[in-house]
Amino acid sequence: MGKTERAIETIQKAESLALKYQDYGFHLAFSGGKDSLVIYKLAQMAGVKFRPVMQVTSIDPPELMRFVRLNYPDVIMERPEMNFYKLIIKYMSLPTMNRRFCCKELKEGSGSGTVTIIGIRKAESSKRAKRNELEISGRKYSNSLDQFNIDNENQVLCIKGKDKILLSPIIDWSHADVWSFIRKNDMEYCSLYDMGYNRIGCMFCPYSSKKSKQRDRQNFPGVEREIKKSIYELCKMGKYTEFNMDVDEVFNWWVSGVSVAKYKAMKQNYTIDYNFNKQ
Ligand code: SF4
Repeated sequence: MGKTERAIETIQKAESLALKYQDYGFHLAFSGGKDSLVIYKLAQMAGVKFRPVMQVTSIDPPELMRFVRLNYPDVIMERPEMNFYKLIIKYMSLPTMNRRFCCKELKEGSGSGTVTIIGIRKAESSKRAKRNELEISGRKYSNSLDQFNIDNENQVLCIKGKDKILLSPIIDWSHADVWSFIRKNDMEYCSLYDMGYNRIGCMFCPYSSKKSKQRDRQNFPGVEREIKKSIYELCKMGKYTEFNMDVDEVFNWWVSGVSVAKYKAMKQNYTIDYNFNKQ
């Protein structure tokens, strides 16, 4: 059985479980990125009931929002109560890899009490390599639905509060598998991929590569300006004193993705990339 057929079968097998939680079936976490296009198409091919939902983060690239509105008008857009810039002030910090409050606030609450189809893949990162096809809100549960004992579901799959059951039907797909599926099915995709982005989503995400953040600086100067306004507010509150209230310098450090000490050392040794010193 090929990967596509297996993914379809996985989704079909889990539908009865999804329907036990919600009449509309699966919650499908849609982002407009290539992996979410694939899970959307697979759910259609599987003929299951699902509700595609996109978490609007307020720092989504305009190209991505246009692409989704035009090609996926049925996707439900869930907008945040507080945007990214205000969250920075609320948490009195810029988000970092160790402090990802924005994901917690803007993305993770969606789909509570549902079986949620997500498009994560082991090949994306070493952290994701440890993830499983079926989990409860990120907790390890089972390697595959084949091991899932449907008779015990009420005991084992008791989900409370913000919890949800996560189903990852393309967890074993490679980058090439994803693109080959998109091409084979003649699917439209967001223009940002042709602009050199490998992954698309929030602009200036602390998890994105240095190269991607450099591109964001070139392509989305308005977002940089808005983030700097929040940094200015933080400086007024007494944060980032190590940068002497220099908002541009705080931003340059933040997009470098390294510690303050390392950033300062790199600056002293002139090893900071030119683009991160661009004012
Ligand atoms: S910027 Fe990154 S860490 Fe923050 S919400 Fe977006 S994806 Fe999550």
